[in-house]
Amino acid sequence: MKLTDSPVQTKVEELLSEMTLAEKIGQMFQTDPGTVLRSYHSKIEVSTPVTGPISERTLSKELISNLGSILSATDAQTAYEVQKVFLQHNRLKIPLLFMFDIIHGFRTVFPIPLGLASSWEPKLAEETSRVAAAEGAASGINVTFAPMADLVRDPRWGRVMESPGEDPYLNGQMAAAMVRGFQGDDLKALDTIAACVKHFAAYGAAEGGRDYNTVDMSEATLRNYYLPAYKAGIDAGAELIMTSFNVYDGVPATTNSFLLRNVLREEWGFEGVVISDYTSLWETIFHMSSKDGEDAAKQGLEAGLDIEMISTEYISHLEQLVERGEVDVALIDEAVRRILTLKFKLGLFDDPYRYINIEREKEAHLKHEYRQLARKAAQKSMVLLKNDGILPLKKDVKSVAVIGPFADSGRILGGWSGLGKPEEAVTVKQGLINKLENDVKITAAAGCDYSSNDVSGFQAALEAAASSEVVILAMGEEDHMSGEAGSRAYLTLPGVQPKLVEEVLKLGKPTVLVLFNGRPLELKWYHEHVPAILEAWFPGTEGGNAIADLLFGDANPSAKLTMSFPYTVGQVPVYYNCLNTGRPKGHEDNDFRFLSKYLDIPNAPFYPFGYGLSYTEFTYSDTALIGDTLTPGGSVKAMVTVQNTGNYAGEEIVQMYVRDLWGSTSRPLLELKGFHKIHLAPGEKATVEFVIEPEMLSYFTAKKQYEVEEGDFKVFVGKNARDLIECGTFTYTI
Ligand code: BGC
Repeated sequence: MKLTDSPVQTKVEELLSEMTLAEKIGQMFQTDPGTVLRSYHSKIEVSTPVTGPISERTLSKELISNLGSILSATDAQTAYEVQKVFLQHNRLKIPLLFMFDIIHGFRTVFPIPLGLASSWEPKLAEETSRVAAAEGAASGINVTFAPMADLVRDPRWGRVMESPGEDPYLNGQMAAAMVRGFQGDDLKALDTIAACVKHFAAYGAAEGGRDYNTVDMSEATLRNYYLPAYKAGIDAGAELIMTSFNVYDGVPATTNSFLLRNVLREEWGFEGVVISDYTSLWETIFHMSSKDGEDAAKQGLEAGLDIEMISTEYISHLEQLVERGEVDVALIDEAVRRILTLKFKLGLFDDPYRYINIEREKEAHLKHEYRQLARKAAQKSMVLLKNDGILPLKKDVKSVAVIGPFADSGRILGGWSGLGKPEEAVTVKQGLINKLENDVKITAAAGCDYSSNDVSGFQAALEAAASSEVVILAMGEEDHMSGEAGSRAYLTLPGVQPKLVEEVLKLGKPTVLVLFNGRPLELKWYHEHVPAILEAWFPGTEGGNAIADLLFGDANPSAKLTMSFPYTVGQVPVYYNCLNTGRPKGHEDNDFRFLSKYLDIPNAPFYPFGYGLSYTEFTYSDTALIGDTLTPGGSVKAMVTVQNTGNYAGEEIVQMYVRDLWGSTSRPLLELKGFHKIHLAPGEKATVEFVIEPEMLSYFTAKKQYEVEEGDFKVFVGKNARDLIECGTFTYTI
């Protein structure tokens, strides 16, 4: 049903007709709780702000009383106070909306999104998102700024930790699942919140991996790789979308009418709310694409930006712009209509306090079953990168040393961890204590910190390692080294941690490296020298328990990478779904000098997309393609038999890729088109089937349109983007 036909729409129109222009513009402004409380309680009357961010400032009571929404009130008490004082002053009693970044858990923290995506289990992301929504809603939050659907190819960019990874299809699956998890079937339910897909668009392609930097790409790249996951989130029903900080085609996304009007509204039919990123409308002045705040306001409105977050260009300038006839008030009505619609959908007009309940909040966080889900999610997100056979460890071990800055640290939650508290997280040491018998000696020693050059702790750490039967190295990046503004030019283990690893290895003990980090790192040296490596990401509240489960074989690793791990930073960006070149590697003549290659490292990444080990073995056989011709409305099937030929029960993520052999435009060597996660007992076999339909092959071609071009497509199945078996070739014909 179109909005215009719905009863909500009637109410929205009634309300809109009663609103003054200033009241309407107020809906389009979002600020923090501090500004609201300060403005009401301050003796100083402040008039219209000039420009820029409002945080830490005070607004006139008149302006603040028209406010539309709040960023980051994170507890029911604050939400209550803000809503109450606000409604006492707001003429039409239009409740405030409360928004917050619930990225990978609110109080119970789940693995970072890059980790969770490594589970290749959208259902799991749906479940964790529902728990996050339930916890957040109980603290009065109505909207989360998630999922982040940005495609990423550059591990220098710190925000890769918030993304599902480098594949458009998998990212879309995860984004849609998270939207379903947050929003459920009923936005008015007390355990759901509205989702805001972000950051639209192409924020993940910052040049050099430096956060907020220029993005420059063709429309074909934008459409074929970067847009699909946002669209999947929107198609799953996300109520909001956030613009990104970067430019696209030279125009900041926040004032980019190609993105916001042509693509989002016209092509995708999005009817929800568009919100800026934090002060990103004001920042168009620094992009030098707006002359001043007034110009920014005009451009934002015309491009279709509904809410300005934190900065004040709309509230400072829109009224005068309308009065002078320079912007059309219909555009303001259009934006306000969407904001009010969301408030109605959330049930805030029935009861502005429906989500704000201090008693309910007390019961709602960190429930036992939430922690259990966090443990399961952490087990399923950790990727076993190497195992020379020392894992799983035996529980009859007499002594274990845990060495490294993460040995007994609660800072395994990672960035953007909401209200998660490090002291509520299970550390690696605690996880081992929980797992092993009381008489096992467990010694933890940091040895060094995350990134300094201080080696004074080495000796104690080495002594602990020397006197233990098994050594677990718990190392990685400090939490703030990834996430927003967490860009790095080196992809190495920071500080003196590499040196400590070397020293420990000299002891010759069975050693496992457990890594905590928010991005792919350079791991070649470790792969060659350390017996086993487990990529734990930032695993969240139950991290230590999940690590102990995996290391001691109570759970079998099943996760697979969703972002390629490069040999070295000079290879970046390196991703599996790249185009071929006219001088491809694999040319018959190996002496041929003029290949597209590096002189010092291979072209392929060190660990490919889709890579991850298990304690058991999976053997692929009997691949087949059923059907050699695909026509509109039809399908072909790819089949493969997978057998567990090892000794442990385990899960395997079976992946299916397609290669378009030729077309009007150069197309990737491999495109992930399907995956299945299967559970097999030792010796058990399963036949895995993938259905391929024409729409899955659609591409934005050289003709500047989405189409499925006629021609031949090769199908592959396998364990990862490197280890593939060809199933056959089919022809698409119209
Ligand atoms: C980030 C967004 C976030 C917003 C609000 C910005 O700095 O880029 O991802 O949602 O802040 O906290």
